[in-house]
Amino acid sequence: MSTTELAEIPFFPPDLFEGDRAVLLRLLRETGTSASQRFILGEQTAAFERELGESLGGAEVVACGSGTSALTLVLAAMEVGPGDEVVVPAFGCAPLASSVLSVGARPVFADIDPWTMVIDPLAAAERIGPRTKALLPAHMFSVMADLPAFAELARRHGLRLLEDSAVAQGGVLEGRPAGLWGEAGVYSFVQVKTFGMPGEGGAVVTRDAELGRAVRMLRNHGQDGRTRFTHHRIGWNSRFDELQAAFQRHRLPGLADRLSRRAAIARYYTERFAPLAERGVLAPPPGTEGRCFYVYTLLAERREALRAHLARRGVASHAYYPQALPRQPAFAPYVLPGDGWPAAERAAERALSIPVYPHLTDGQIVRIADAVCDFPFN
Ligand SMILES: *Cc1c(COP(=O)(O)O)cnc(C)c1O
Repeated sequence: MSTTELAEIPFFPPDLFEGDRAVLLRLLRETGTSASQRFILGEQTAAFERELGESLGGAEVVACGSGTSALTLVLAAMEVGPGDEVVVPAFGCAPLASSVLSVGARPVFADIDPWTMVIDPLAAAERIGPRTKALLPAHMFSVMADLPAFAELARRHGLRLLEDSAVAQGGVLEGRPAGLWGEAGVYSFVQVKTFGMPGEGGAVVTRDAELGRAVRMLRNHGQDGRTRFTHHRIGWNSRFDELQAAFQRHRLPGLADRLSRRAAIARYYTERFAPLAERGVLAPPPGTEGRCFYVYTLLAERREALRAHLARRGVASHAYYPQALPRQPAFAPYVLPGDGWPAAERAAERALSIPVYPHLTDGQIVRIADAVCDFPFN
C-alpha cells in the first residue's frame, strides 16, 4: 500500500476543488476586472440558471443565497404563513423546521421509514388537519422520499408540495429528476453537497412559471427585475454570486460523471455490507432507482463502538443526525402534545455515515469497506 492509502481518510475531502483551481483563479480575475462590474445576479447567474434548467429537461431555475433560503422563498411564494401548518420529517436537518417557522407557520413532524430514513407518507397523512397548508418531504442520505405518494397526498387534500431535494441533486425517480416532483424543489450548493461549490448558494427549481416568478422577486427584495426600487412584496436578500455562477457553469458538465462515481462506490459498499445485516449493521437498500449518494449511511446497533473502530482504522465517519428534529430545543416548543416519532429516535441513535465522495480512490474504498466488515460484531 502507498502512504496516501494509509493516511486518514477524511469524511469530506479537503481538496474538493483542487482540480479546478486554475479555472477558479481565472474566473475570479475575469469577474473582478470585467467592464460590467456585476458581482451578483449578472450574466453568469442568468446563464447558469438556464443551463441547469436545460440539464433538467426544461425547468425554471432561480439561483439564490442558500438551500435554506430556497426553502424559505418557496414557502413565502406559496403564501404559507401564520396559522398554517406544514408537515415535515421528524428526522433531518434544521432548515426543514426553521424555514417553516421563519415564515410564521408551524412545522408538524411526521415519522420516517425505519430503513430508508425518509418521511413516511402514511405518517404524514395522519398529521394532515384543517390548518395544513403544505407538505415538505425531504430526500435523505441515500434514498429519495416517496414523492409519487406525496404528490398524490397533496392532490387529494389540496395541499402545496415543496420538495426538499437539497441532498438529492442528480437523483432520478420514475424518470423524473429530484427537485421536479414537487411544485418546487430546492438544491444546495454548499461545498459538501453533490453539486457543491466553494461558497454559499442554492437554487429553487420549478416548472410552475408563476411560482418561479414569485421566488425570483422574493430573492431580491420583492423587485420584479424591470423596475428597480419598486417593491411588490416584502422579500429577502438571497442573491447569487457571479463568480460562483461562472464556476458552477464550468463544473456542470462533469456532474453526471461525479454522480456515477458516487453510485459505483455505493454499489460496492452495499454488496460488501449485505452479510452484516443480521449482525447489526444495515446498509441502505441496493439499486440506483430513486437513489442519491450525498453521504452513505449505515444503521448500526452499536454506532459509537463502530465509529470508534473506524476512527482507529483511519476512517472518518459522521453521525447525521444525533437527535430527532422535534427533540431539538429550538423546535420542541412546537411539538403537539402526545406526538411521537419512534423511527426517527431510533435513526438518531443508529445512523452512521461513511465517505462516498467521487475522488476516493479504489484503494480507499476497499479500505473503508474492510474497516466496516472487520468490526468486532459480538
Ligand atoms: C443542506 C441542506 C439544506 C440547506 O442547504 P444550505 O445551502 O446549507 O442552506 C436543506 N435541506 C437539506 C435536506 C439539506 O441537506
